[in-house]
Amino acid sequence: MPCPCIFFYMTKQFSIPRGTSDILPAMIPFWEEIESKAKDVLKIYGFSEIRTPIYEDINLFKRSMGQTSDVVNKQLLEVMNSPSRVAMDQKGVEQVHSEIYGSQEKTGLVSENTYALRPEGTASIVRSYIENRLDAKEALSKLFYIGPMFRGERPQKGRLRQFHQIGVEAIGVDTASPYLDAEVIGLGVRLLQEFGLSGFKLKINSLGTKEDKENFSKILRDRLKGKLAHLCEDCQSRFDRNVFRVLDCKNSSCQAIVDALEFDDQHLSAESRDYFKQVREAVASLSIACEYSPKLVRGLDYYTHTVFEFVGGGLGTQDALGAGGRYNGLVSDLGGPAADAVGFALGIERILLSIGEKSLSDKKLDSFMVALGETAYKRAFVITDFIRKSNISCDFAHRPGGSMKSQMRLADKRGARYVLILGEDEEKNHSVVIKDMSTGDQENVGWDEVVEVLKRKIK
Ligand code: AMP
Repeated sequence: MPCPCIFFYMTKQFSIPRGTSDILPAMIPFWEEIESKAKDVLKIYGFSEIRTPIYEDINLFKRSMGQTSDVVNKQLLEVMNSPSRVAMDQKGVEQVHSEIYGSQEKTGLVSENTYALRPEGTASIVRSYIENRLDAKEALSKLFYIGPMFRGERPQKGRLRQFHQIGVEAIGVDTASPYLDAEVIGLGVRLLQEFGLSGFKLKINSLGTKEDKENFSKILRDRLKGKLAHLCEDCQSRFDRNVFRVLDCKNSSCQAIVDALEFDDQHLSAESRDYFKQVREAVASLSIACEYSPKLVRGLDYYTHTVFEFVGGGLGTQDALGAGGRYNGLVSDLGGPAADAVGFALGIERILLSIGEKSLSDKKLDSFMVALGETAYKRAFVITDFIRKSNISCDFAHRPGGSMKSQMRLADKRGARYVLILGEDEEKNHSVVIKDMSTGDQENVGWDEVVEVLKRKIK
């Protein structure tokens, strides 16, 4: 008797992991358009692309984002390693770091034998900046990345376990300038506008230096102390571990408490206050409106000084299109030089949700061959190849016996601008009928002229 598991494998239907999505062919033109528009703008602003692995040593994320952040605490997706591989990699990391920056304790990166899928881009980019000594190549490295990120979240609309970000990081030694913060913020606004978004808001705040941040959390704890019993369970533990996270809690009783709190910039030193003022003035000089949001904190350890968010665009609860900020101590904390940095990441899925698919230009086929009969089918096969070699998009139905009506329907569905019809008469005359699908106009064209005529029409 056959093993029952054979039946299981024969009948089992696999489904996509929760919180991930297939990007089907119909959606690819929208993704391509976002990516190509982004690359054009990023290059205009002097940013160069960097590609890093989708997984890294888990300690890189723990050290950079902070053990108490929700992303590290609850959402890291671990990837276990084989023992031999671990030994080799560990040796490699130790060697690289001790060669460049001396003792291995300084980096603190090597301990557990575990990798994690990247939940964001910044940590990986900083790791690569340090490891590849990008500081020695230029004073200011302006880097961008586009790619998938992974977080073990509870999936909902606009909140996925695999999502995609377009991110930038400007990292340099002695380059902390309010104008760089403003340039990066301006770039975020420009990208969103380029994608066709207009109804979003820029929110901005300053956390100040590490000491200012300490002040800020003390002030926050003081204000929340008396209300601790009314906070949700999560926030009660956040109160000690990372009080800033209370400000982002979605629980309605926590939100009511947070709404009633009033803050200003009293946690900031005079210097930090002045820096923040200059950032806002520089942003205003680019004719960009921003909203001072004293409760905007961002829950990651590495942020210092400026933090900002792009929100709105009709997204509902998950309304952040992108966010970022300055992180001055992170590069040296990870064993690199005393570099300061500022960056942001935009969520591609949220951008697409906000734009709605229709407003992006839909890329369609230039031409579609309709072949009637076996002989015409073989001829269409060769003519299609000829047209494609001239960089004109062309396709045809692989249905030698297909009717005119069904093939025309297919051409229409594929959004073809021109249909090239090849029947018995055309085969005899060595010609095709070119039909303009928007006007219905037709003309008969010799095989040797098809490419030239099409080129003229679609230009
Ligand atoms: P963050 O790295 O959390 O600051 O996120 C930056 C941007 O990435 C957000 O503003 C969102 O647009 C997007 N994003 C973050 N997390 C998710 C997620 N789980 N699903 C979809 N998009 C996300």
